[in-house]
Amino acid sequence: MTPNATDRMTALLKTRPEPGMTLESVPVPEPGPGDVRIRVESVGIDGGAEALIHDWHESKRHYADELPQLFGHEFAGTIDATGSDVDGVAAGERVAVEPVVGCGRCRCCRSGSSSICPDRRILGLDPEIDGALAEYAVVPREALYPIGSLSADEGVFLELLGLAVHGIERSSFEPGDSVAITGPGAVGIGALVAAVAGGASSITVVGTEADRRDRLPLARELGATRAVTVEDAAEGTEDVDVFVEASGHPEALSLASSATRRGGEIVQIGIFHGAETVPVDLTRLVRRGVSVTTVYGRRDSSWRRAIAIAEGVDLSPALGPAFPLADYEAAFEATRQRKGVKITLHP
Ligand SMILES: [Zn+2]
Repeated sequence: MTPNATDRMTALLKTRPEPGMTLESVPVPEPGPGDVRIRVESVGIDGGAEALIHDWHESKRHYADELPQLFGHEFAGTIDATGSDVDGVAAGERVAVEPVVGCGRCRCCRSGSSSICPDRRILGLDPEIDGALAEYAVVPREALYPIGSLSADEGVFLELLGLAVHGIERSSFEPGDSVAITGPGAVGIGALVAAVAGGASSITVVGTEADRRDRLPLARELGATRAVTVEDAAEGTEDVDVFVEASGHPEALSLASSATRRGGEIVQIGIFHGAETVPVDLTRLVRRGVSVTTVYGRRDSSWRRAIAIAEGVDLSPALGPAFPLADYEAAFEATRQRKGVKITLHP
């Protein structure tokens, strides 16, 4: 049932500068001009964002002066109401959301790269824009991507798959190329799915000892020809055409530097949290003609391709577990224990 302006909803708020979040009753947000309101069906927990904010990791304490705040930036649901000046979408339509909204005017935005807009806003992470750890969220119309009959959890995964697709489409990858991927998290698994869909001849997925029991078997299930720990990767991982680094570990970039073929390409997607500078043997890369392409966020074509891929692939092994919003503590604990690839909450 569509709520009235006076109705209230349950939201999972970060209220205090200490570990934890709390369920609160807050007003249902009203969509302004150009906005839509979404009944949130699934919202992902990002291990590098919401999970660290919940645990009050020192890297997230800059939010202290902004509390209380409603986070949640990977989400999907059904349009519930539209504000004025919104066309092309209607209530009842199921959508996923691009959380990075560019200014629309700068050179980056005008060339289709709003993900690197210097004035970009991030829904559910920037203090001035509420996120989706709640029953309803209001977002700008331009952030929406219709997902048709895909599930809400698949809609959440599209944000990660889209980033991986962006990495593949920005690279010189062509069908028949060999691919290696470091970091079998949501983006690395997304890169695997994208490389399979793109017709890679072989795909090596490289993880750590912690991935041996779950994420490496999952990678094999989703089409990896080889899934190994980094200790085992050095041997047999060589002359790779396109090496997707999605872990953000310096050791993985080092492996990429030695395993990418002459004239090949390293696609750097992983963020090196806590390491401002990362050693890389650039002279060796120059002498061997290996290029390094960095990728951040998605562009419009990434969404289009990610949706097309998701419609043709069974992503269910990479989805969940899912928890009701009220069981958020269990969901954050599952994230801590690395259960599943993309844990979601269902408000
Ligand atoms: Zn811009």
